[in-house]
Amino acid sequence: MRKPLISGNWKMNLNHFEALKLVQELSYQVSRDDVELVDVSLHPPFTDIRTVQTVLESDRLPFALGAQHCYHEDAGAFTGEVSPAMLAKLNVAYVIAGHSERREIFGESDEMVNLKVKAILQHGMTPILCCGETLDEREAGQAEQKIAKQITAGLAGLASEHVGGMVVAYEPIWAIGTGRTASADDAQAMCAHARAIVAEVAGEAAAATVRIQYGGSVKPVNAAELMSQPDIDGALVGGACLEAESFGRIIQYRLAE
Ligand code: PEP
Repeated sequence: MRKPLISGNWKMNLNHFEALKLVQELSYQVSRDDVELVDVSLHPPFTDIRTVQTVLESDRLPFALGAQHCYHEDAGAFTGEVSPAMLAKLNVAYVIAGHSERREIFGESDEMVNLKVKAILQHGMTPILCCGETLDEREAGQAEQKIAKQITAGLAGLASEHVGGMVVAYEPIWAIGTGRTASADDAQAMCAHARAIVAEVAGEAAAATVRIQYGGSVKPVNAAELMSQPDIDGALVGGACLEAESFGRIIQYRLAE
């Protein structure tokens, strides 16, 4: 059985004081029972990571620490970048790789994403490899092809055991931050397709254990239906993770089933 993973991508929001407040509020909102059957990761901006690490560890909170990005080199003259080694030192467990905003705004190519995925794994952390199509690509019937290309390139050269422990996030770009969610049937079909691509690239065993998240306007009101789909093993949440109440209710999606 794959344990679902609910990840909160804070994007470029909340300073370290606000981060502390949100994590504390979340800890009041969510009980240990709520997280028995689901993993939760928090992905604050770099400037908040040390603060969030300290509160998670000192209060023994049942949330994993995540990051939104890193460079693939360990150290060197890469102004403005943060290395996977630095994140691993802060006990970061999950790192998002190839989010559509990084691909579109910062020009991350499939090759850069692949290097990043490898570097994250080399440092003992779990990559969350993002893929997803634009509205134009969907309307042109190219959605499956687009994510197949992104997944195949993102996983190139990886050992099957590594792929089996990873997370892939299917995030249709037209659903991110727009309030438009893919229907549960569409999301299921695309996540099943993502799993089939993983099987082609890394074998059936890896495809059976890789966790596939859906992302794109996940809210308390739609989380249960999305999460009930057989190939959806979690959610990558943007806007709704910035409030403890809404992120807590997504984590508690089983209560709404
Ligand atoms: C995201 O940023 O990955 C995302 C899915 O955002 P939102 O939930 O706001 O659509």
